[in-house]
Amino acid sequence: MQILTTAAGLQAYTEQARQAGHRVGLVPTMGALHAGHLQLVQAARADCNEVIASIFVNPTQFNNAEDFRLYPRVPEADAALLAPAGCTALFAPSVAEMYPQPTVLHFDFGALERVMEGAHRPGHFNGVATVVSKLFHMARPHRAYFGQKDWQQVAVVKQLVADLSFDLEIVACPTIREADGLAMSSRNRRLDAPARAAAPLLYQVLQAAAAQVRQGVPPAQVQATAEATLTREPLFTSEYMAVADAQTLQPLTNYAPGRAVVLCLAAHLGGVRLIDNMVVAG
Ligand code: AMP
Repeated sequence: MQILTTAAGLQAYTEQARQAGHRVGLVPTMGALHAGHLQLVQAARADCNEVIASIFVNPTQFNNAEDFRLYPRVPEADAALLAPAGCTALFAPSVAEMYPQPTVLHFDFGALERVMEGAHRPGHFNGVATVVSKLFHMARPHRAYFGQKDWQQVAVVKQLVADLSFDLEIVACPTIREADGLAMSSRNRRLDAPARAAAPLLYQVLQAAAAQVRQGVPPAQVQATAEATLTREPLFTSEYMAVADAQTLQPLTNYAPGRAVVLCLAAHLGGVRLIDNMVVAG
């Protein structure tokens, strides 16, 4: 596995791969890798001869300086996991390499980002769109792989690709969970033992909410029940619970036949912010 740290190095690498007729897959990450990330690398490897994983804790997508500072960084352990999963090149740039000058461009994804993560983390999707655009230009992949764990991010990135005519395909892969249902996340490393023990409640709340959606319980009631359940666990502070159209991400007041529903929640647990979601077919 090649290790690349400069934009020029990545561009040269991918140019050579394209000229050799190889298909290039890109897996953007912020590191502290787990099976959710490795699944993306494996999916890329199944479709592409070149798989580039990027590890970059992107400062512009953090709206909370403390969250950025405490974000887990384990570069040696990450590198050791990538090659066996099928990664052919690791791109691990510095902040100065990615941002040689402050960016001024602003993205506005309209209604897509006025809800959930966009509403609760101002500037977050601007930072995501900036870094993802840069990575797409540097790596010029045929396909880029993202996790459905970040459902809204997938929607935003698909909009970015469509609006800016990036010549690539976005592949969305399912959420990988621990045995007890907790969605894998780099931030899980920051949970202490009591918080980790309480954490599967997020998944249980989503499962119960999904069952209610299938029974036709009105969205407002599903939302209220989920928030009440989380509030009963003292370690949790609920930030939002959304019952939304899975495509438009807009909150629902009732269900439309044939339209999938996405249940998204964000909560704080022992100082760590966690998100999760579940899709209910229409
Ligand atoms: P991150 O390093 O958290 O920015 O995530 C990098 C990519 O991995 C994103 O596309 C995430 O959606 C995806 N990802 C993170 N956790 C999971 C998971 N548990 N299952 C599937 N994909 C995930």
